[in-house]
Amino acid sequence: MSVIDEVKQKTDIAEIIGQYATLKKAGKNLTALCPFHSEKHPSFFVYPEQQSWHCFGACNTGGDVLSFIMRKESMDFGEALRLLADRVGVVLPSRAERDDKKEEKEEYYKVNEAAALYYNNLLINSPGAEKARAYVENRGFSNQTVSDFQLGFSLDRWEELKKYLADKGYSEETMLAAGLLIQTDDGKTHDRFRGKLMFPIRDSRGRTIGFGARVLDDSLPKYVNSPQTPTFDKSSILYSIDRAASTIRKQDMAIIMEGYMDVITAHQNGITNAVASMGTAVTESQVNTLKRLSKNLVLALDADAAGEEAMLRGVGYENILNAEIRVVVMPEGKDPDDVIRQDTATWQELVTGAIPIVDYTFDMVISRLDLTTARDKSLAVDRLLPIVAEIKDPIRQAHYMQKLAGVVKVGMNTLEAALNRLKPAPVRRKTPERKPAVAPAVRSYLSSQLEEDCLTLLLQYPELKSGEEELPPDYFEISENREIYLVWQINDDTVNIKESLDPALHEHYDKIVSKEFPSNNTIEKRNFEYRRNLEEKYLRNMIAKAQESGKPNEEIIQYISRLKDIQSQRKLSPREARR
Ligand SMILES: [Zn+2]
Repeated sequence: MSVIDEVKQKTDIAEIIGQYATLKKAGKNLTALCPFHSEKHPSFFVYPEQQSWHCFGACNTGGDVLSFIMRKESMDFGEALRLLADRVGVVLPSRAERDDKKEEKEEYYKVNEAAALYYNNLLINSPGAEKARAYVENRGFSNQTVSDFQLGFSLDRWEELKKYLADKGYSEETMLAAGLLIQTDDGKTHDRFRGKLMFPIRDSRGRTIGFGARVLDDSLPKYVNSPQTPTFDKSSILYSIDRAASTIRKQDMAIIMEGYMDVITAHQNGITNAVASMGTAVTESQVNTLKRLSKNLVLALDADAAGEEAMLRGVGYENILNAEIRVVVMPEGKDPDDVIRQDTATWQELVTGAIPIVDYTFDMVISRLDLTTARDKSLAVDRLLPIVAEIKDPIRQAHYMQKLAGVVKVGMNTLEAALNRLKPAPVRRKTPERKPAVAPAVRSYLSSQLEEDCLTLLLQYPELKSGEEELPPDYFEISENREIYLVWQINDDTVNIKESLDPALHEHYDKIVSKEFPSNNTIEKRNFEYRRNLEEKYLRNMIAKAQESGKPNEEIIQYISRLKDIQSQRKLSPREARR
């Protein structure tokens, strides 16, 4: 149960509203003169069974206990929730805590941005950056690219950046926490990046969160990054996501490359849906970020051991995406940077010919084995069967079972027996939980699967935002769902939605955004059905409430005719009516 559910469960709407209005019994419901508008005859009702309220008079609106408090006390969602939580003794994630952290982060963005400007200026103008400029030119990067990606250079001295930023008013503490300085054992600090080509790294909102840095000679390591900081989490960052997001959405495809150089070359040559994972393996959190922009992911990794490692995890990522991941097969010994610089047409062909990651993994494993020998057949099964076992989609799994049987020339029965041995044993049914001697008083609170499903779809497919008439927020009768919907309406970038929400809503948001759908219908069709069902649910609910209260008004009469329309539409297309 989320903290919000807990608050709602412990709160009695009649008791709360009773503090603002004199409630009288009206059948199983309660009625009062509306606390929001002035009236002589009561048109305000409270429905204890649903834990909701409605005014059929001038307000013609309603909701749950949270929306009542928000309206009555002129509070936002978080404030209203806190007021109720305090009453019932539920502890919520603190907003002050979040505000402090937010301020701290703002400071790190600012200091990193200042450093990026400083490094960029050095690369363009400093006599000391001659070698870096030669390197950039040799790579074929244009001046425009240098400025687009704000490439830079750090001088090979100990305290240049530190002095520069101190002059700008930044404290040593901030520079250190933002990862720009290193502290030695004796407590002294100096610049982290020295004599390197600098790549500012930004988040999806374009804020500078850290740096990648490359040496300009043959020394090792070739690259160093900012350390883990409150703004720089290597496992979730995608280089150039700020520049690539809109193309990824538009083209419905993201290309994941390995290095900064690959991505910069790609963008300079018009391939602007390319991003880079930070380091070798693609992470789950990166896949989750991209999933919100497109489910169509193409890996263009160097065909070395690191790339292979990432590919072996591919099926897990496919399960997250609920879609197939494809791999661009690079020509022997080449990386994307080489290919794109040579000729973008060849690159496009390679992308078009990208093969499913499982097929790629098959090829990779088999190419090293001699399948005429019994030992290698067994090795092939050992390596590939666990990957096939991981595939959730039964049709695709069957396809690869057949492929594996064909490759190793072993009967399907043998393979299937082996597959079953790999599957986890079915969970034994637990002995029924003993009921507590005294059942706690549980108050029902409203939740709505339909509202949540509708939100899941909107959050997972940002493209649904454009082109359609927006739903009236009132259709979301649960305050927390309406809150998420309202924030979704005003945020173009889904990545920002969570940050804009009160922290008490994060749990609810996470649950909704990460829900898996069976993919047996197109997005458009599901969206159409959800919208219609949501409207129908709202209309039915309003009509029922009005009838119970004996207060049908002008609006309700319209609702009834609208509901009839929907029902006759359903009759016309019985196939669509089936859910
Ligand atoms: Zn009213």
